Amino acid sequence: MKRGLLEIVSGPMFAGKSSFLLKRANECSGKVVAFKPAFDTRYSNTEVKTHNGTGIVAINVSKPADLKVAQDAEMVLFDEIQFFDAPHYSGSIVDDINSMLDKGINVVCAGLDTSWQGNDFVITKRVEETANIVTKTTAVCSVCGEPATRSFKFGGSSAEIELGSADIYEPRCEKHFLQPHNISAKELRGEHDHAWSQKIAHAIEEKKRKETAYVA
Ligand SMILES: [Zn+2]
Repeated sequence: MKRGLLEIVSGPMFAGKSSFLLKRANECSGKVVAFKPAFDTRYSNTEVKTHNGTGIVAINVSKPADLKVAQDAEMVLFDEIQFFDAPHYSGSIVDDINSMLDKGINVVCAGLDTSWQGNDFVITKRVEETANIVTKTTAVCSVCGEPATRSFKFGGSSAEIELGSADIYEPRCEKHFLQPHNISAKELRGEHDHAWSQKIAHAIEEKKRKETAYVA
C-alpha cells in the first residue's frame, strides 16, 4: 500500500493555521476526520474553527483509542498538534500518526511552533522532523505590521501553557517579541495614534482576505 503523506503547518497564533486545515479538508474528496485536544475548549467542543468563524466538526481526543474512528479515512487533520502530549494526550502521537501513514491515510497537522516564552513545542518539532511537507505561516505584528513569527503574551498568568486568544496574546515580529512582558501593543503606543492603528488594521484585513480566499 502507498504510504500516506504527512504535512504540517506551524507558526504563531493568529497565523491562519486552522484556515490551512480547512483548505486541505475542502481539497479532499474522500472521508476527512478532524481531531483536536480534548482540553482546548476556547471556541467549541466540536469544531475546528478559524478566528473568522468558519469551521468543520472535530473530535476531542485524549488517548490513542479515540483515533479509531479515523481508520477508514482518506485524510486526518490534527489541530493544535503541540498539545497532543502529556498530560493532555496519553499516547505517542508521532507513533499514532505513523500507523495512519502506514495505512495510506494522509495526515495534516497544524500547531504552534514556540510558546510565548520562546521555547519549542516538542511535539510540533518532532512532527516537523518526519513530515513530507513543512509550511511556516506568519501573522501580522501588532506593533509594526511586519510578518510575525512569535506569540506574545501581555495578560493572564505567567504559566507557559494558558488557553487564551486576543484577550491575552498578540502576534509579534522577532524584534517586538523582545519587549517587556505584560505590555500590549495598544498600551505601548497609546490610544490616539490613528495612522498606526489604520496601518495594522489594513495589514490584518489584507491577510484575512487572502486566507478566506483559499478556504473558499
Ligand atoms: Zn514588529
